[in-house]
Amino acid sequence: MDKICPICGSPLREDFTKPKEYMWRYDCYRCGKFKILEDGLMALNGLISGIELNAKTKIYISGWIREHQGSDIIIDAERLKSLMSLQELSVFEKADKILQYLAKKFPVAGATINYKFYKIGEILSLIEHQTYAKSIEDPSMKVFKENAPDLLPIVAIGRIIDVREFYYIWEDYLINEQHYISKESKITPAGWAYLETFRHPNPDSKKAFVAMWFDKKMEIIYDDHIKKAIEEAEYNPIQIGRKEHNNNINDEIIAEIRSSKFIIADFTGNRGGVYYEAGFAYGLKIEVIHTCRKDWWDNVVLRRVKAELRNKEKEIVKIKEKRKVHFDLNHHAFIIWKDGKDLHDKLLNRIKATIV
Ligand SMILES: [Zn+2]
Repeated sequence: MDKICPICGSPLREDFTKPKEYMWRYDCYRCGKFKILEDGLMALNGLISGIELNAKTKIYISGWIREHQGSDIIIDAERLKSLMSLQELSVFEKADKILQYLAKKFPVAGATINYKFYKIGEILSLIEHQTYAKSIEDPSMKVFKENAPDLLPIVAIGRIIDVREFYYIWEDYLINEQHYISKESKITPAGWAYLETFRHPNPDSKKAFVAMWFDKKMEIIYDDHIKKAIEEAEYNPIQIGRKEHNNNINDEIIAEIRSSKFIIADFTGNRGGVYYEAGFAYGLKIEVIHTCRKDWWDNVVLRRVKAELRNKEKEIVKIKEKRKVHFDLNHHAFIIWKDGKDLHDKLLNRIKATIV
């Protein structure tokens, strides 16, 4: 067992590492199948400046590869760079991913998830300490080979940091707190009902709706950068008219958002319409990528307003106004951009990394 995955350190299923035209193939128990180009291997070994992959980042990359199984995954330095921007998941999001994965593996209601979850500690400890016995007849290797195909994909999907985290999500949260899984390891009616809420309304759509402020400068940003990034990611940008529509959302806009795979909401200018369109997409469970130009994100501007002063006289006074976007949106991972090129690059990375 000397062949291990360059991303997660798990042993490989088979030795797929014979290079073919500078491309290495892997089949990892945890990550799944993927290919790496030479500059990707260099980046993983810390040899390319600007690409630093710590243990946590690698856990997220492993999860991303596992989630994209079935497509031709080629890892190169550029891809790793874009994957560095993957958002960290909350404990609830990790639990959601694990539950959704198990529902796909065990789609028949009432089926028992017959995995030996109590072996997870043993398996993760082998990987962590890289203490694989030489012989595959060794009892520890037998346990590994028997259980890794069931358990390690779950560890990858849930971006599990260590065994404590796994048991917390599995027992404390999914079983005892939410009752989505029964003690007999079956998905409960409550679990199935919860899974219904994740159905994407149009998984095969190639449309990307853009909600933004259409002033002169922003029109140029759209034409030269946003549209380009969407097309390079192989989606079709949809943008309805350039008339300022304030809060008046028409049927055409609603129909376009409804049929989109994801929407890009740029909050530069703090336009009411953008909040409305993003809100509509949240309601439909359509992914929203949030962006905002830096000066509108954190700037404070002086404004003149009429104010009633203590002496009851109305006067014009200067106040400081924060342009920052509404606080309810602050928990989303915003792309903050300086100029069109910056937006294009970050947007393209984000689409490639998060839109499945
Ligand atoms: Zn791996």
